[in-house]
Amino acid sequence: MSMEEHYREQMSKSGPESLPLNQQVKFDVLIQIEALTGCYHNCVGCFVDKNLDASISTKLLNRAKELTDGVTRTGLNLREFVIGPTDFFSAANTSEILNSKITQSILFEHENARIANPARFDEATDEQFNKIFAILDDETKFRKDMIIEFIQPLPEDIMKMVNDKEYFDVVMKRIEFFKHNTPKMIDWSWTLQSSSILARKLSKDDYTSILNKSIDEYGTILEMNPAFTRAPSIELQKSNLLAWNGFLSAVIDESNSKKATMSMANLYCNSMNFVGITIYPGENGEIKTLLNVMLHEQALFTQNKNLDVTGLTFEEILVRREELAIKGIQKFSEHPLYKDTPYVNALAYRLAYEAIETMGLDDTEAILPMDVLAMYNPEDTRDAVFNNTANKIRNKDI
Ligand code: SF4
Repeated sequence: MSMEEHYREQMSKSGPESLPLNQQVKFDVLIQIEALTGCYHNCVGCFVDKNLDASISTKLLNRAKELTDGVTRTGLNLREFVIGPTDFFSAANTSEILNSKITQSILFEHENARIANPARFDEATDEQFNKIFAILDDETKFRKDMIIEFIQPLPEDIMKMVNDKEYFDVVMKRIEFFKHNTPKMIDWSWTLQSSSILARKLSKDDYTSILNKSIDEYGTILEMNPAFTRAPSIELQKSNLLAWNGFLSAVIDESNSKKATMSMANLYCNSMNFVGITIYPGENGEIKTLLNVMLHEQALFTQNKNLDVTGLTFEEILVRREELAIKGIQKFSEHPLYKDTPYVNALAYRLAYEAIETMGLDDTEAILPMDVLAMYNPEDTRDAVFNNTANKIRNKDI
């Protein structure tokens, strides 16, 4: 049995603490590499570059190692090593990345770190699935009890996950494997990508049935992924953001907000004590490094020069983050939408002002819908605790 807690319970509490700064016991780091190439799926509105240059994967991994060594030097906690951006099971070079000594040394050295991946295990063949798990389960390569997190985009025909019994059985067969056939701890969740919602014009009823099916029958959470940030132009990013915000306001209400996991709207999760960094291939083989904007851990704004931390050490990246957060506090403190809200610091530390600036949002255009923010950030933040460690500290039993 590789998963002791219910997936929904585990996935909704696996973020950093929701605690005052003086009680926070760790600062989490997420490092993401864009190294996988190839994907035969056709998710609606996919903006991911599926044809990255696989020949530079060692350079990408070397840069990741430089940064994870910085995490060790500074005494912070490497929480996630995200291997993306394409599907973990159908990419052409997943085995190569997993068999790399650099990947393995990062995961051995950081005992709290998990591998997290975008993964369509629903449609992986048995051959692909078994090949990947043969590497992951080899204890000379990865810790026996390492956590692996699969973030599964909803299928191309989204409602299939609700209505198609055969599809449901295929997914549950993989879940049985996670429970009984691997020593690894597996977390998984569905992710609803903004681009697929916008293209499909998903109704509130559709959304509600997906959410309920996910929680009640698949036994895991439905996350929201603002994948529009990968759109090829700023105009498209902005129009998609505004449409996405309209969708969230239309489908989230008091009756379902507690069921729907929205790390982008829960501002006391992954804000002050979290940094996300993405390493990706630039032009002509250059290795680029970017601070993530924490609308979501995978929100990237490559056009923003302030977020570009290519060539900086990990310590220098932390200084850049702090400078941008202080700038954000100043800007949000004067902004008509946010200045009188309790969200100023959290949004600033998520570097959300950089997203506002990149997309040129005016003073009436919210980065996240204000009604949704209010639902996810109640004044009594005891309702918003995410993490078992935080719960224990509040209950004074550790
Ligand atoms: S969203 Fe991910 S899984 Fe879907 S087509 Fe794009 S790369 Fe493939």
